[in-house]
Amino acid sequence: MTGSSTKVSEPHIERLHVVILGAGASLAALPNGDNRGRKLPLMNDLIELVELGSVLDDHNVDYRGKNFEVVYSAMGQEERLDDVTKLVEDAVYNYFHDLELPDYPTIYDHLVLSLRPKDFIATFNWDPFLVQAIERNYSVLTQTSPPNVAFLHGCTQIVYCDRHSPAVIQSETKRCGKCGEPAKRTRLLYPVSQKDYNSDPHAKMTWADMELAMQNANILTVFGYGAPNTDVEAMSLLKRGWGDSKSRSFEQTEIIDRPGRDREELESTWAPFIHTHHYHILDDFYHSLLARNTRRSCDTFWDRMRMCKLVKDLPIPPDLDFPDLWDWSAVLIEEELEYDAKRADKKDSAC
Ligand SMILES: [Zn+2]
Repeated sequence: MTGSSTKVSEPHIERLHVVILGAGASLAALPNGDNRGRKLPLMNDLIELVELGSVLDDHNVDYRGKNFEVVYSAMGQEERLDDVTKLVEDAVYNYFHDLELPDYPTIYDHLVLSLRPKDFIATFNWDPFLVQAIERNYSVLTQTSPPNVAFLHGCTQIVYCDRHSPAVIQSETKRCGKCGEPAKRTRLLYPVSQKDYNSDPHAKMTWADMELAMQNANILTVFGYGAPNTDVEAMSLLKRGWGDSKSRSFEQTEIIDRPGRDREELESTWAPFIHTHHYHILDDFYHSLLARNTRRSCDTFWDRMRMCKLVKDLPIPPDLDFPDLWDWSAVLIEEELEYDAKRADKKDSAC
């Protein structure tokens, strides 16, 4: 349907493209590690990469052959390990906090540039890449705002006010611009079996935003998130936001995961978020609706599937470096501003 068409869709859809990121997204974005080659830890190699082995040995913690979630959960049961648990938490926090994007555009840059301010990115990752991508792209693209973001398990790069959401944290004082209270760093929610999101102020506010975004989603993209058993509570909240899949007949779900991932397993995991055949499974971010229809994903999907229009793809150019990538994006943003102005004029003249 895309071959002979010459037009791209106008930015007319106001419903959201919601993207959920897991560890697989960061691995796909930085397969060789961060800008200094530091590897991105997974739960099964985190103890080794963060070099926690000797401190755990010193306190007779049994960790060999186990993943971090199991070790950490067990440590929480023993009062004698309170101090070392705090030490482990700080070491993990600092490891992730120090990671940095490389100088060239990555999937994270393409992701944040592919979405409009109405859209929503929710991440389970503690790493700072989403924040860094937003900072370096939107300090240049000043005529618009980045998509909304939610850090579902905390993030090492953000601070928050437990009274205000969204808070504007003053960069010099590190205080909330609304109430003047000192900003707090987010607690990293470790993968223990019972996560109580309501007990943490930041998590509670974040999940309220997430639920609303799921209700208003038009396209849902799940990228590199495996929904482990320890995230049963998160999945339950996501389902509550999405509602009954039978009632989501206008929506599309796309799942991006690593090559070779069991397709039936993915279908089964995400079945509650899929209306009949309205889904596809991919192993490459650049083949997704998101990357193939930059800043126009919901519009293009609607025009093709509901209006039977011939519209062409608008793929993000993966090989364009900065600042050419910003120049390319700025043209689309300019079109959006013109479209919004035209729509506002129409509304005014109709009144
Ligand atoms: Zn405040």
